Amino acid sequence: MDLAQGRQDQLNVVIVGAGLVGCLEAIYLARNGHRVTVYEKFKDPRTWGKGADRSLTLTLSPRGQTALREVGLEARVLQQGVLLKVRLIHNIQGNTTRSLYSDKGEGIYVVQRTQLNSLLIKEAVECYNIPIHFEHTFVGRQVKHSENGSDDEVYIMKDKEGKTVTDKADLLIGADGAHSAVRHDLFLKKKLDLFKQQYHDHWYIEVVLPPGEDGKTLMDPDMLHVWPRGEYMLVTFPNLDNSYSGSLFLPPPVYQHVMSNETELLTFFRVQFPDVVKLVGEDYLKHYFFEKLVVSGKMRRPGRLIANQVQPYHSGDSVLLMGDAAHAIVPFYGMGMNSGFEDCWVLHQIFQKHGYSKGSGMAKFTASHEFETPCSTQTRFFIMSSCSENLGQVLREFSNQRCKDGHAICDMAYEHYALLSSKIAGVSYHIRKLMDDLLFKFFPQYWVPEFVMVTFTNKPFSECRKEAARQKRVISQTLTAAVITFTVALLAIFWRLWIRF
Ligand SMILES: Cc1cc2nc3c(=O)[nH]c(=O)nc-3n(C[C@H](O)[C@H](O)[C@H](O)COP(=O)(O)OP(=O)(O)OC[C@H]3O[C@@H](n4cnc5c(N)ncnc54)[C@H](O)[C@@H]3O)c2cc1C
Repeated sequence: MDLAQGRQDQLNVVIVGAGLVGCLEAIYLARNGHRVTVYEKFKDPRTWGKGADRSLTLTLSPRGQTALREVGLEARVLQQGVLLKVRLIHNIQGNTTRSLYSDKGEGIYVVQRTQLNSLLIKEAVECYNIPIHFEHTFVGRQVKHSENGSDDEVYIMKDKEGKTVTDKADLLIGADGAHSAVRHDLFLKKKLDLFKQQYHDHWYIEVVLPPGEDGKTLMDPDMLHVWPRGEYMLVTFPNLDNSYSGSLFLPPPVYQHVMSNETELLTFFRVQFPDVVKLVGEDYLKHYFFEKLVVSGKMRRPGRLIANQVQPYHSGDSVLLMGDAAHAIVPFYGMGMNSGFEDCWVLHQIFQKHGYSKGSGMAKFTASHEFETPCSTQTRFFIMSSCSENLGQVLREFSNQRCKDGHAICDMAYEHYALLSSKIAGVSYHIRKLMDDLLFKFFPQYWVPEFVMVTFTNKPFSECRKEAARQKRVISQTLTAAVITFTVALLAIFWRLWIRF
């Protein structure tokens, strides 16, 4: 059954970017009966070789899971993931400390980026017949005068031969990542009130630690491993094949120095991460950095971390930014993809609200169906009301809600670097965490630690930030009061002893 057939209330949507968010949004829209076309700059990732991408592993938390669940994909994605409940912190002597993600036993999943992207693309193409045009790069929007005298806005793409391809739609969604061309087009046309872009003062390179010769894992399994060194940081996540992959973060001058030759690299690892050298051996490190990461005689370029703050996320009733195009953040909270997936879920809620809000005068047509798709049975499809009239309102609402959340998680992700890279190794962090955990344990309705709120709930990021600021104030005041009370008590004891003798 073709849901869309004969319907007047269907939107035509063009999505730029078949990354994680673009694909998920395409599935959401197609499930709701809209006609979607996707343009993607690169080749189909299903044809890529292993390890061809950056940031090989990603953490998937309940926010992302909620969005995947809504379209029936959660279970399949989690099957490909590894559940983590513990962070293991490696100090410079090679000793380790365990830090639970949550005292309630909650965990997050680690998934492979390319595998997840391929799954979403497969689902979009095979289950919803969404055309994805790979190797088509969006370059901008143009107004064209048609023969009947009206002005039509068209989207311009270049295919791999450089030929121009055009398309048009009711809605253009820019899900084209941190360096978004759709956002750039809005910027050039002065449609953004705010656009801030900031590079983090660290570069990163992917690191893979292999399993042992017997195929077994070399480190404690099912944990996030962190080597916090203040200025530097190494983070690795477990994979299903018992290897570990992650990133090494370094300031650019240190990066250039360390990666300049094998001797510098080994000296650096021996001093900073002696336990890693012991586990994988110096030969492996030399091979990995100076052979495996070398393509056509050149070492892979380091990744740069970028954060964007944009406002609004929409323009009129015809353009919307989602995912990293709207709110790229530094990866230290593991929330970039999760908040991008949450965008899809939130947009869906807003669409539904308008479609179903009886009595609002907006709903034209609502219905629900139970039927089969080639990929799953009993998929529930909701046909929304005609959104074209309300589209501007839907986009505005999305922007209002998501901009403040995008800005909040952007700030929290920056702050989280300081915690992961140095504070986590200090005593004061553990005292604060102990207080946080105790308050959470005894007053869970009133006190949920920031990390738990951000990672394990769907509370809007802006509210998490406000609540976390209040908690920091309470903990600081309590600690200050405790220190003053302790000092006064100590002085009183000394005073009495002094009087006595
Ligand atoms: C080192 C690192 C670690 C990370 N770890 C995590 C983590 O653990 N958890 C987490 O949630 N997030 C993590 N992130 C963030 C996460 O990778 C991003 O938030 C996520 O990929 C955003 O998805 P997206 O679809 O918006 O953008 P992208 O994944 O960047 O996809 C954009 C797509 O658009 C395409 N495109 C770009 N320009 C054009 C154009 N002009 N025309 C057509 N197509 C175009 C691109 O080729 C790409 O396929 C990490 C990021 C980094 C750098």
